Amino acid sequence: MATKKTANMEIQKKNHTNVFQLLRKSDGLTKQNIVNTLQLCLPTVTQNINALCEQGLVTECGTEGNTGGRRAKTYGIVKDAKVAIGLDITRNHVSTVAVDLTGSVIYQENTRRKFEKSDAYYRYLGKMVRKCMTALQLPDEKILGVGIGVPGLVTADNQTVFYGEILHFTGSTCAEFSTYIPFPTALMNDANAAGFAETWADPDIKTAFYLMLSNNVGGSVIINGQTYTGSHYRSGEVGHICIERGGRRCYCGQQGCVARYLAATELSNMTDGRIADYFALLQSGDGQAAERFDTYLDNLAFTVNTLYMLFDCPIILGGYVGAHLFPYMDEIKLRTQRLNSFESDAEYLHECLYRTEAIAAGSALHFISRYLESI
Ligand SMILES: [Zn+2]
Repeated sequence: MATKKTANMEIQKKNHTNVFQLLRKSDGLTKQNIVNTLQLCLPTVTQNINALCEQGLVTECGTEGNTGGRRAKTYGIVKDAKVAIGLDITRNHVSTVAVDLTGSVIYQENTRRKFEKSDAYYRYLGKMVRKCMTALQLPDEKILGVGIGVPGLVTADNQTVFYGEILHFTGSTCAEFSTYIPFPTALMNDANAAGFAETWADPDIKTAFYLMLSNNVGGSVIINGQTYTGSHYRSGEVGHICIERGGRRCYCGQQGCVARYLAATELSNMTDGRIADYFALLQSGDGQAAERFDTYLDNLAFTVNTLYMLFDCPIILGGYVGAHLFPYMDEIKLRTQRLNSFESDAEYLHECLYRTEAIAAGSALHFISRYLESI
């Protein structure tokens, strides 16, 4: 008897979830649309719509139908019924974004602020979160949480940075970062957060390798929509694969690491660290910029081919450089394909869909995703 009751409750929960998920992916549906799509009976759909409306997650959003009869009401989700906030912490900047239940970025701000392990800095993070909430007029109860993307490796519980040589913040904790953030918080590895955002942006990509080409180089292995973390939460650390034995010295202590050849700074140090300016210079036909890019693309093709041989899956080029690679994809594919032992094209290469703030958005999506699973 108890088993049957449990089974019924599970079915009810599943119906509830399915109705919400269907509405989340549409612009407005009638009850009959839902009946037809989910193959549920009308009373069940009505009951779930009523419950979701009471929860504040769904609302009437219009009508549909021909004149002559009563027009049917359409229902849609309240996109900002719940919102998550994401921060991206880098050496000199802090980005703040807010993401709604559809995964859309509804606020973004990038400010210059040098990272330091200090109370003043953590207070500043709290201030940026509050500023975002004020701009969107969000009450506290709408905030699901604040994801904090960092250039470091993070423990499974999202609470501690266990390797943070880039900002010299190994051992920093989520509690420190969130001293002035009165919401649930989680630390996220930057590349994993950005890779997660990409799989949200393109639901067709379930399994992929995300290559983050920012001022540091990272990677994320995504299998069936989930980040593969490895045994020690260090998977996908492509930045420390050696591409030149005895090559340039890396901050990790080794030599010849990818990070020293594919960091965005390899290009942007020609233009005072501004990557957009570098690509403008390249577009203008500057010889030195072109020479630098030629070397960069060779190293990129070599790295990408190595990844493809390992994973045999789509590879997404992201990060500061990835955001500017669209005009050069044919050339990149050509150079990569030449190295491939098995195929004559490199159609597995994709440019990133999030051109800005993928890390902050992915950090926020951590909370959106968890919430959606709970509905
Ligand atoms: Zn290294």
